[in-house]
Amino acid sequence: MTIFRPSPISASFPSPPHGVGRRACYTDFFPRKRTQMTAASASDPRPSLAGATRAELGDALRAIEIPEREIRMRVSQLWHWIYFRGAREFSEMLNISKVVRGKLAERFTLALPEIAAEQVSTDGTRKWLLRLDPVDANDKGAEIECVYIPESDRGTLCVSSQVGCTLNCSFCHTGTQKLVRNLTTREIVAQLLVARSRLGDFPGLEPPTDGLVPSGPDVRAVSNIVFMGMGEPLYNLEQVENAIEIMSDGDGLSLSKRRITVSTSGVVPQIEKLGAECGPMLAISLHAVRDPLRNELVPLNKKYPIRELLDACRDYPGASNARRITFEYVMLKGVNDSPAEARELVRLLKGIPAKINLIPFNPWPGAPYECSDWETIERFSDIVFNAGYASPVRTPRGRDILAACGQLKSETEKLRARARLAVE
Ligand code: SAH
Ligand code: SF4
Repeated sequence: MTIFRPSPISASFPSPPHGVGRRACYTDFFPRKRTQMTAASASDPRPSLAGATRAELGDALRAIEIPEREIRMRVSQLWHWIYFRGAREFSEMLNISKVVRGKLAERFTLALPEIAAEQVSTDGTRKWLLRLDPVDANDKGAEIECVYIPESDRGTLCVSSQVGCTLNCSFCHTGTQKLVRNLTTREIVAQLLVARSRLGDFPGLEPPTDGLVPSGPDVRAVSNIVFMGMGEPLYNLEQVENAIEIMSDGDGLSLSKRRITVSTSGVVPQIEKLGAECGPMLAISLHAVRDPLRNELVPLNKKYPIRELLDACRDYPGASNARRITFEYVMLKGVNDSPAEARELVRLLKGIPAKINLIPFNPWPGAPYECSDWETIERFSDIVFNAGYASPVRTPRGRDILAACGQLKSETEKLRARARLAVE
């Protein structure tokens, strides 16, 4: 595993008003009392059960000839060990007979994707580059990024739903990488398991020694999940929903669906489905208040224009004042940041239980935009606030390690791009 040091990025951006000023910290830690996580190995033909659904665990038990009458009870045991205790070896499962443990280990593993690299930002944000197992003979093994953002009252894990993205939003780094494939349920859940293992957030594990992870008797290092990493979650809806069911299951990972947010660029027909079938919190990447500009920024708008998108939000099952929909609005200098646009935003959202999240644009190499000035962001925020909406400006996190919103792109892609540039 490589641990990168943060390096200053060349693109210019304004400093956040409430500084994120902790010292840089680079870790190389294995402070585990218990076994460290086992990395999946491309050469190991045994499938991993870490990230499996209950049905898949049942099938695995049938494959080792556990009698049907025991399946339910055995599934509960495995579930507890994998998701509540974060077990990485079958040998840890002491209430399961040695014979059954042995048979499980012959056919399966509890391996997680390999951490190919970890970067720790000066502000405590961590980015992991995870190497996935090949899914078939043509697959060379994809990579995804997953980001952890500690705050005083919470720890948020930003997970990916796809390798790359098909949607090409003009301000997003991920959009410049073409879609490689959808992630499986297991690969989505594994991001949470990797993070919790690495952060020492399972019984018997120690947190990293750098002091940048919230800790304490009642503190959960990962208290919130946002599907704001690579990919469009609503283009991989079934796997995303399965993963949310596993993450929110009260006998295991136990994260309330109110603490799981799915962000979409506006795949209108899937919004209602997500609400009716699963019911997590919803975030909409709006970014513009008129169709011509949104067509440019979020090309999917040509298919599902603003009006249709907002109608789907009005109808989102479960939305209420207590469960507001978040509207994300990236602040692009001279593009979408005028007071008139702020007023139009307020008008458009009338009647929708909404909060507005202003995101300072996070630059990436070659990006065609700049972030709005702080005064402009504040003026925009004041208009929204005075109209009665909470309008927090999202403090950019992990910019020094390209871990902020829209900066994710797998390392191999970046290397490929660098190699191409060198040739050109
Ligand atoms: N595909 C989904 C979720 C992933 S993107 C979506 O688009 O909603 C997560 C959030 O990051 C979105 O709101 C997206 O618009 C925003 N984002 C993308 N690139 C960004 C950038 N360079 N700076 C700031 N926010 C960005
Ligand atoms: Fe894809 Fe979201 Fe980036 Fe658009 S903003 S390219 S939908 S990841």
